[in-house]
Amino acid sequence: MTSKLHKAVLRTAVALFILMLHTSLLAATADLKVEPPFWWAGMQNPNLQLLVYGTDISSSEVDIDYKGIKLERVQKVENTNYLFIDLVIDKDIKPGKFKIKLSNEGKTTHTYEYELLKRDDSSITRKGFDPSDVIYLLMPDRFANGDISNDSHPAMIEKADRSNPSGRHGGDIAGITNNLNYLQDMGITGMWINPLLENNNEAYTYHGYAITDFYKVDPRFGSNVDYVNLVSLAHSKGIKVIMDMIFNHCGINHWFIKDLPMKGWIHEFPEFTRSNFRAESLTDPYASEYDKNLMLQGWFDKNMPDLDQRNPLVSNYLIQNSIWWIEYSGIDGIRMDTQPYPYKEIMAEWAKRVFEEYPEFNIVGEAWMQRESMTSFYQKDSQFGDGYNSNIPSVTDFPMYNAITRAFTEPEGWTDGMARIYYVLAQDFLYANPNYNLIFADNHDLNRFFTSVNKDVDAFKLAMAFLLTTRGIPMIYYGTEYLMEGEEHKGHGDIRKDFPGGWLSDSVNLFTSEGRSAQQEEAFRFLQTILKWRSTSEAVTKGSLKHYIPQDGVYVYFREWKDKRVMVMLNNSKGSQAIETSRFTEGLKGARHGKNIITGNPFTFRNTILLEPRQALIIELENRK
Ligand code: CA
Repeated sequence: MTSKLHKAVLRTAVALFILMLHTSLLAATADLKVEPPFWWAGMQNPNLQLLVYGTDISSSEVDIDYKGIKLERVQKVENTNYLFIDLVIDKDIKPGKFKIKLSNEGKTTHTYEYELLKRDDSSITRKGFDPSDVIYLLMPDRFANGDISNDSHPAMIEKADRSNPSGRHGGDIAGITNNLNYLQDMGITGMWINPLLENNNEAYTYHGYAITDFYKVDPRFGSNVDYVNLVSLAHSKGIKVIMDMIFNHCGINHWFIKDLPMKGWIHEFPEFTRSNFRAESLTDPYASEYDKNLMLQGWFDKNMPDLDQRNPLVSNYLIQNSIWWIEYSGIDGIRMDTQPYPYKEIMAEWAKRVFEEYPEFNIVGEAWMQRESMTSFYQKDSQFGDGYNSNIPSVTDFPMYNAITRAFTEPEGWTDGMARIYYVLAQDFLYANPNYNLIFADNHDLNRFFTSVNKDVDAFKLAMAFLLTTRGIPMIYYGTEYLMEGEEHKGHGDIRKDFPGGWLSDSVNLFTSEGRSAQQEEAFRFLQTILKWRSTSEAVTKGSLKHYIPQDGVYVYFREWKDKRVMVMLNNSKGSQAIETSRFTEGLKGARHGKNIITGNPFTFRNTILLEPRQALIIELENRK
């Protein structure tokens, strides 16, 4: 057994044990909820704040007796069903269990057996995803149904209905687990899975962005243990896991929304008030307070109450929740939803505390901005006048998305065609680390890429060759590898269709070559060839980028890392192009031979290189002898 696999098995066993333990505890303390439900010994931050929830407990005496734990403070809030308990934990405390006792007039009314687990020694040095990875974004309800017994659940309001594009279709963690080999075989090294936590709302729950329990996987996807197993198995196949987290809002049916701890837990209005979704107002020097407040405090949707992260009890709850999931599940990264929507200082504090526990970890923020300047504002270490530092290393590169979706379908012009991409990259001086930008051609909120390029396979190939060889961390949305189509304006169901073959009853199975059309197979193999090579190419995953101004629709660039070099030539024009090699001596550095990555054939440089119409050429250069 490899040590990796051994660790995976061990982690699973520990997770199972924890679950059994806490299932049995719940029975004894059903009237008391404590979050986080357990914690770890040996964390960097000695402070732990427990949210304790039970009927009329606020006047209770709290007693905790465990060597190395100091009960620092007990906070009452407006709602008498809550207590917030601040603990200080010694750095060298022994893992173990202790009782949290609540009493009134000397009589014990509640006990909760709390546990400090032993921290996994390797967790502190856990390496997050980085530019060597290609991330696959998948929507768990729509990817594969590996367990039909959980499609509906007695405790969950919404039941499965695969005929409803906005309904639950039954996809789950088991479905992802069953298809890890497919992802590995494609050359994928990371997964961003859309949210998996409980969304026990009436309807439209499949997407997962209206959480009703921050500590529990939705039973229609599986259990917490299933999630831990998935992470371990993915790791054993060289695939990292990125958890999708949402701090701006929760679901309307969250238990603490139904019995709010206090005023100022969420933003409340006399009547439903929606955010203006104009994150630009937050960096706009002329913005009115009215616009900024509406942006930050308005609700994302009717079923998504807007949490007030300025309340330290709220922000602490959310920060500890992130750390809990990282430690518990072994994930390699977080994708933070709607990064600009909570107060930016709180998001920075959140990221800082996560990195204090896990310095090598990574986070990508969904900074959905139209401009490079505003996107870069949300990346760690970007330098702007107000001194703000988000502490979040990766940001979603929407300006690049805008360029990719248009560049390959329009005639060349001074600002059109390949020039769009050139202009985006020429503004990289705005970013502290553009290599950490998450780059993509589509995602769960956008038109399917094959639809964006009017079903033009050549445009698809040019774009994918570019996406996988330029700077940044590429992301591929599930289904894009076999040219799935869909339009956002037809409803989100159209861009989040089921992966054919993920359901037993499906007549077509696109997980296998046999199920695909010739065109789908061509697209898949093209991607797979570049993906498999990319992970071995330090020039692409670590190297510098040098490019040449596009000419006649031809865009040429080099990636270089130490003595490893790659030349990429993209002919976006409809005609063949003979390009003069002499223009690229600076990048070629005398190289005369190389290998064509897409065909696998040797390549020899002559005075001119003949590019076929719409050809993407990726050449790994041989060093000058
Ligand atoms: Ca299922």
